[in-house]
This record gives sequence, structure tokens and C-alpha cells, in this order.
Amino acid sequence: MSKDAADIWSDDITQLLRVSDGFILSNVDPSSTPGYEHGKKRGKKDLALRAKQLDEYQDRLFARSRVDATQSSVLLVLQAMDTAGKGGIIRHVVGSVDPQGVKITAFKKPTEEELKHDFLWRIEKALPATGQIGVFDRSHYEDVLVVKVRELAEPDEIERRYDAINDFEERLREEGTRVLKVMLHISYEEQRARLMKRLDRPDKHWKFNPSDVDERSLWPHYMSAFQTVFDRTSTDRSPWYVVPGDNKWYARLAVQTLLLHEFAAIDPQWPVADYDIEGERARLMAT
Ligand code: ATP
Ligand code: MG
Repeated sequence: MSKDAADIWSDDITQLLRVSDGFILSNVDPSSTPGYEHGKKRGKKDLALRAKQLDEYQDRLFARSRVDATQSSVLLVLQAMDTAGKGGIIRHVVGSVDPQGVKITAFKKPTEEELKHDFLWRIEKALPATGQIGVFDRSHYEDVLVVKVRELAEPDEIERRYDAINDFEERLREEGTRVLKVMLHISYEEQRARLMKRLDRPDKHWKFNPSDVDERSLWPHYMSAFQTVFDRTSTDRSPWYVVPGDNKWYARLAVQTLLLHEFAAIDPQWPVADYDIEGERARLMAT
């Protein structure tokens, strides 16, 4: 990790938040702030201070991808229970990047057309172009989360999907896309409070969806489906990160740092001019 991105942290969050062997979701405290000891006020400040860095990285990635096809894109996959703050991550973290450099796709209930195809069909179509940051607001993981909990596909088919996902992500990796998989983890109580707030405020009523309460009643089933996702699809090359989400400021700072870390690993360099700079300067002066 670059020093700049690391120094606000007391520990390496790419390790702290990473899902590795033996990971148990229920051991994660959603109200914790692993690796960060400075509190909310400073956390918000640190987020703002690093926004420019993310913007520059994406600029560099785009520029670099014009001359080097092996470095193509970063794909942020966001999965979470309702109200966990996916929207806030997109607005406050990804929002600091040039909009032209970002491709955001929200995956809703599949259409009839989409259901006629393999579950990865609509995902493939939404992949970021070279030089872009792709953001999946929900993703192919819905096909082993809600689909599993709601029994929307046969168990055999769901079983098949974990391996299909691993193969798919490995292929992306080989094609030069770094996939950053993040679960925003809020507590059951925090979700109630956030849903209640939507009911309390007229300007938030549009955000409330009665079906969210139905999904909420299946909370333990969702947690168990997430655990299986981690057991089956968190690999060395494409690990999951579980980010405690009860503190929105923390989740945003953590996801920003994870993104910066992906970019630092790519370390895209500005392309070197393939023309004679002095010659062009002279030509320009003569005009
Ligand atoms: P917000 O509520 O913040 O606008 P959201 O992501 O919850 O964002 P909604 O339109 O409320 O958006 O919900 C999308 C719904 O689509 C979710 O309930 C999700 O589980 C469902 N969904 C997404 N992908 C699939 C899928 N492959 N199969 C079935 N349902 C899916
Ligand atoms: Mg919703």
C-alpha cells in the first residue's frame, strides 16, 4: 500500500477486512471501525483529503490504458442488505472521480429477457470499458443470495453458480480487470433504525419500500447465504472484504482506501509522449 493511503490507519485494512480461511461473518461487529482510531470528524476529513488521489489514479489508468492494453479497469462490486449504504459509497467515494471514467450499474430483479439467459449474461454487458472504474450496485452475487434465500432457482443451479462465478472473475482478472468485492455489513438493529427514519421523514418516504421489511424478516437466511458466498468465492486473487457499515463515515473511508489500494497495485503511469516535445513546442510558438 502506498504510504499516503496507509498512514491514517493504525493497521493494514486490506488484511483486517479481508475474508480469508476460517472467516465467520457473525464475528464481525458492524459498529466497529477496524484500523481507524481517529473518530468521525477526522474520518470525514480524511475521506475528503483522499478524494483527489482517487481521481488522479483513474485519470492515469485511463491514460495508460490508451497505450497498454494489459491494464484495463477496476470493478467495485457492492453487496449489502437494504439501507447499508451502497448509495452513499457511490456518491461520496466514487463521486470524486471524473464521471466519464465511471460506469455504474444497479442490478434489479432480472427482466423476462434477462431470465432467458445465463445469470452472467447481463453482468458481461455491464463490465467497465478499459480505463474506467466499474461499480456494480448489487451484482451476479444476487444470483446466489436473494435467489438462494427466496428459492428462485433449483439448488443444483445455485450450486453450479459459485464455480461459474470464480471462473468468471478469474477470466476478468486475466483480462486486466481488478475485481474488488465489498460487503457492507450493517447490524439488524441499525437497519431497523434506518428504515424507521425513512418512515419518519416525508422527504425520505420515497426511499422506503415495504418489501424491504419482508426481506428483513429473512435476515438470518441472508447472513447464512452471505457466509456461503464468502466460503465459496473468496479466493486469493479475488478476495471479499467485509466492511462494517453502521458508521457510514467509516465504511466510506474504508472502501476508498481499498480502491486506492487496488490502484496502487496497478500503479498506472502517465504515458510517455511518442512525439518530439521540444519540436512541437517550437512548431506551436511559430503559429
Ligand atoms: P435502493 O433501495 O437503495 O434504491 P436497491 O439495490 O435495494 O437500492 P431496489 O430496486 O430496492 O434497489 O431492489 C432491487 C431488488 O432486486 C433487490 O431486492 C434485489 O434482491 C433484487 N435483485 C437483484 N438481482 C436479482 C436477481 N438476480 N434475482 C432476483 N432478484 C434480484
Ligand atoms: Mg431497496
